[in-house]
Amino acid sequence: MHELSITKQIVAICEDFAGKHSASKVTKINLVVGEATGYIAESIRFYFDILAKDSICKDAKITLETVKPLLLCTSCQQYFERVPFSFDCPLCGGQGEPTEIGREFYVKSIEIEE
Ligand SMILES: [Zn+2]
Repeated sequence: MHELSITKQIVAICEDFAGKHSASKVTKINLVVGEATGYIAESIRFYFDILAKDSICKDAKITLETVKPLLLCTSCQQYFERVPFSFDCPLCGGQGEPTEIGREFYVKSIEIEE
């Protein structure tokens, strides 16, 4: 259900942006979503259709760029992609720690028609 509140924010950001640029409509919304956020693209699209229906972004297409979470090895300081059930660094066998990579969620760009 997290998607409901973040989708509300997306619509608010787009309405604000469209207002500032005197847009007649929003055509495209480009999002960046880290996989570690747990946000599901289908849910965002589902809520967006409902929330945007009476707004300036009702015809906007949503594109999602997903970011794979990376761990940082505490021994060799390399970033690596985690394999299931393991935090081991594939390069040196050291322990990986979670990083902010994969936790991002933001509106990268908004395309409008004037
Ligand atoms: Zn390592």
